[in-house]
Amino acid sequence: MNIKFEEREELKEKIKDVNNLGFGQYFTDYMFLMNYDEDTGWHDARIVPYDNISLPPSAMCLHYGQTIFEGLKAYRNGDKVFLFRPDENFKRMNRSNDRLCIPPIDEEFMVEALKKLIDLERDWIPDSKEASLYIRPFVIAIDPKLGVHPSGSYLLMIILSPSGPYYKDGLAPIKIYVEDKYVRTVKGGLGTAKAGGNYAASLKSQVEAEEKGFSQVLWIDGVNRKYIEEVGSMNIFFVTEDEIMTPELSGSILPGITRKSIIELLKSEGKKVVERRISIEEILTLHKEGKLLEIFGTGTAAVISPVGELFYEGTEIIVNNGEIGEISNYLYNELTDIQWGRKKGPEGWQVEV
Ligand SMILES: *Cc1c(COP(=O)(O)O)cnc(C)c1O
Repeated sequence: MNIKFEEREELKEKIKDVNNLGFGQYFTDYMFLMNYDEDTGWHDARIVPYDNISLPPSAMCLHYGQTIFEGLKAYRNGDKVFLFRPDENFKRMNRSNDRLCIPPIDEEFMVEALKKLIDLERDWIPDSKEASLYIRPFVIAIDPKLGVHPSGSYLLMIILSPSGPYYKDGLAPIKIYVEDKYVRTVKGGLGTAKAGGNYAASLKSQVEAEEKGFSQVLWIDGVNRKYIEEVGSMNIFFVTEDEIMTPELSGSILPGITRKSIIELLKSEGKKVVERRISIEEILTLHKEGKLLEIFGTGTAAVISPVGELFYEGTEIIVNNGEIGEISNYLYNELTDIQWGRKKGPEGWQVEV
């Protein structure tokens, strides 16, 4: 498919101070759009100036939440620009699409379209070891109808946002509240899809945890209320003397690309990584026995997020004296070196633009 291009009359001013970028607040000059309707399929791929879009108030996405999204980044290393495993994002987009009755996209075409957009916007990618260009592809249902059924027409968009370092003052451990009241999703629900609705379900819990002084929540399963699932927008890993473990993809956990990459990296180094059911009681016991060495979260935004404290029903679990663990630190450096192209990664992980 051909990608049309509509040029902007005037380019925006770029933000110079990367430390004041924050996350998702500024947007670049251009965006990618593509429409779907039942007669033509996906069509009219175009790169146009970033601007407001117009929708009828009856557009289905505004009422029934038929929307999905993705998140990845472009990294700059001098003149070189890299994407990290973008094919995985569009594969996951298709799995999310399938769950929400959205027609599949051509994954290879989408990687090419993204490369074209990033190349056009490469001057927006911060020249920094920590800041990067956040990429948000998403799909919304746009039929102007109120009947509850899958929409017949869709809009796919990619917008770009230069974003500052996740840790302004360097990698730092976070405090996490283990959620025992609210549930994000259950097996059979939308949890394995990157759907906007999952985040709507999580906001109340996040607000209450922040009020109590925690930066994130850890979800436990909605059925037994005992097995660990994941953190707000991160998967979670536990390090013991013998192994590194992470909850298995149970049907209510988002399959993170960082999670997958960390598992592959650790295994390639001969480390023992297990994916299985992990109960919160097991973690409490390991901690009591002094066998819990590190906990860390994984996700595109923070890469690796060391956990200094878990709080569960009145019990504080202080991990590694609230300090960054050896493995967390190693994985952070290793993965960011690969993402920024400072080090050669496994085949297909670094896509140069
Ligand atoms: C996006 C996301 C993750 C992390 O996935 P990555 O591909 O590693 O960025 C984890 N959990 C949830 C709920 C997410 O939405």
